[in-house]
Amino acid sequence: MSAIMPTIGFIGLGQMGQPMAANLIKGGFKLRVYDVNPKAGIPLAASGAIICKTPSEAAQDADFIITMLPNGDLVRNVLFGADGAINKLNKNALVIDMSTIHPLQTDQLIADLKAHGIQMMDAPVGRTSEQAITGNLLILAGGSADQITKATPLFNLMGSEIINAGGPGMGIRVKIINNYMSIALNSLSAEAATLCEGLGLNFDTALQVMSGTPAGKGHFTTSWANKVLKGDLSPAFMIDHAHKDIGLALDVANTLHVAMPMGAAAREVYSQARAAGRGKQDWSAILEQVRHTSGMEKKI
Ligand code: NAD
Repeated sequence: MSAIMPTIGFIGLGQMGQPMAANLIKGGFKLRVYDVNPKAGIPLAASGAIICKTPSEAAQDADFIITMLPNGDLVRNVLFGADGAINKLNKNALVIDMSTIHPLQTDQLIADLKAHGIQMMDAPVGRTSEQAITGNLLILAGGSADQITKATPLFNLMGSEIINAGGPGMGIRVKIINNYMSIALNSLSAEAATLCEGLGLNFDTALQVMSGTPAGKGHFTTSWANKVLKGDLSPAFMIDHAHKDIGLALDVANTLHVAMPMGAAAREVYSQARAAGRGKQDWSAILEQVRHTSGMEKKI
């Protein structure tokens, strides 16, 4: 990096953006900050940030623009809306969207900026505002190798783990998939814990058991690893038995009035798999069943 530190236009100074911007200032970058809430930039101004009245003002002379906003429409608005950054962005600037938005919106933003001769990459983050404060975010970098190299000094100030997600738009894709898994699993875990309480089972016992099984470890690296992912659907544990077992849990939950919406939906997938003739296949064949329902079956 040159002796003259680059300027960053930082847009969106909420729970995440505020501490991320603060860490960039601590690292020596010059910041021009904008938030629709005029008070949001005040703590940063005390450490040298210039508070701007519009996104285009924040883009003035900026080498980078970082957006950290609630959704994709707002990202588009601060870039292309009235007083949008596009009005002042210089052609060498790199736009980095670190928000969690719809991946196809990311693709369109990358294309639309490219049409103006401006580069954009996606770099959504994992973890929470606690790690944003300490500079220990997980950064999922989508973009070309050159873009990631250019942005790495910034990422190193905001995060402690940077993953090259494999190209433009791939950061937001892996972020959405990761969040989908953990958010859905949160709900399924709550069902299991509530059933555990309903049955009078010690939760620590359940934890001890599940920490060593696919229930706690997830399927990708356990039940799928040597089966469906290797094209082998011969049964280690049959879909028929899995269908029976999820039914046992749902039946007892019904008796106890424990709500199990995730489990009820899962049983239907196992029922579909059986109806499709997969009863004697390994339970990892549920992947093939879902691919089939999505018109994407691999026909292993
Ligand atoms: P937040 O709501 O705290 O902050 C959003 C900021 O954007 C606010 O300060 C708001 O005033 C500002 N804003 C809204 N519209 C604007 C506009 N048109 N122009 C300029 N500023 C505008 O949200 P957050 O928790 O900081 O999250 C930001 C993004 O990061 C989201 O996409 C979120 O999904 C993602 N994220 C959040 C977390 C978390 O733990 N909070 C973790 C990972 C990713």
